[in-house]
Amino acid sequence: MGLIVQKFGGSSVADVDKMKLVAGRVIAECDRGNQVVVVVSAMGKTTDNLLSLIAQVTDRPNPREVDMVLATGEQISIAILALVLQTMGRKAISMTGPQVGIITDPFHRKARIRDINTARLREKLDEGHIVIVAGFQGLTQSGQITTLGRGGSDTTDVALAAALHADRCDIYTDVDGVYTTDPRIVPDARKLATITFDEMLELASLGAKVLHNRSVELARNHNVPLQVLSTFSQNPGTLVVKEYTNMEDIVVSGVAYNRDEYKITILGVPDQPGMAAKLFSKIGEANVNIDIIVQNISHRGLSDISFTVGKEDFQNARDVAEQFVKEYGAEGIRTDDAVGKVSIVGVGMRSHGGIAATMFGALAKENINIQMISTSEIKISVVIARADVDRAVQAIHREFELQSEPKLTAR
Ligand code: ASP
Ligand code: MG
Repeated sequence: MGLIVQKFGGSSVADVDKMKLVAGRVIAECDRGNQVVVVVSAMGKTTDNLLSLIAQVTDRPNPREVDMVLATGEQISIAILALVLQTMGRKAISMTGPQVGIITDPFHRKARIRDINTARLREKLDEGHIVIVAGFQGLTQSGQITTLGRGGSDTTDVALAAALHADRCDIYTDVDGVYTTDPRIVPDARKLATITFDEMLELASLGAKVLHNRSVELARNHNVPLQVLSTFSQNPGTLVVKEYTNMEDIVVSGVAYNRDEYKITILGVPDQPGMAAKLFSKIGEANVNIDIIVQNISHRGLSDISFTVGKEDFQNARDVAEQFVKEYGAEGIRTDDAVGKVSIVGVGMRSHGGIAATMFGALAKENINIQMISTSEIKISVVIARADVDRAVQAIHREFELQSEPKLTAR
């Protein structure tokens, strides 16, 4: 007998008919002789609706109360799913995060799971129950309800699988796996049979919305293999694993994009030691997350520093930059609120050369200007005009022939 942890996202439990399909998936797993823990998100757009309700009251809500409100979404879906399973003749019980014993740190709206007490879960499983757990929520040591950040049910799923040493961790969603890129932009994007944790983590952080990036991080740290598959089709999904054969031969696994980048350039910064440190420590103090940074070669003892931020941090970052200009005698700032980022990801980049040249060549052919470049061992990102993002994704996808199965180089 195995133990499977399954997670169903909001679109999979949007109404009772969909929940019956979900119940079918759960029952199939039980009938294969497995114990099953099910994690669910709130029904459909419930979380968004709860947030709009809060927004009718204030735009600066107390985070503790936000979590009290948001946690109700998942409490509804677990109990309704338990009822559906019970009417189908199954022994099922719903449990909230606090009831399970999911302990988090005290940071409301972005809490991290610290510990899971599996005793109650085990007890219910051993009594023959299907246990349905509310995703996205937990309890602090001092008894406060917390949530894990938007999309956090994936993280609950992986954390439970790790704590229970589950045999498999499945994430059911409305897409049937991880694709080489967004099929809405490239219709012949290909579904990946396998991808590594490292690649998935990059893709999730770069804007691919399939998995919550913390869940991937957690899966990697605990080596919990994940399977991403669709609730609504029988197609095989994508396996996210530590490593697989031939993975080094696959140079590019996917193309990710983010349309919401904002660029700030500080012109004429005195070219002296400590300037970048001063600027970015101020930005850090303002709690702004920086994405890409570029400093150009200095001329006349002055240099320009550009960086990009997400939409939510743009105003804040601009204020800090303006303050910095006044304080340190830089020449001024320039902002661009219409840039985007396109990235390629692949573990094979570690051992293959010329990848950047191929990517930049594809952009050159399309006459797309590159404004900034950033690279890591398994990723190359470029910042370009937002209006060029779709065309860039298409050109790069074509250039690396990602629509077809990779040809493996002989070893
Ligand atoms: N219901 C939460 C959200 O919409 C958590 C989740 O869906 O994973 O963000
Ligand atoms: Mg959701």
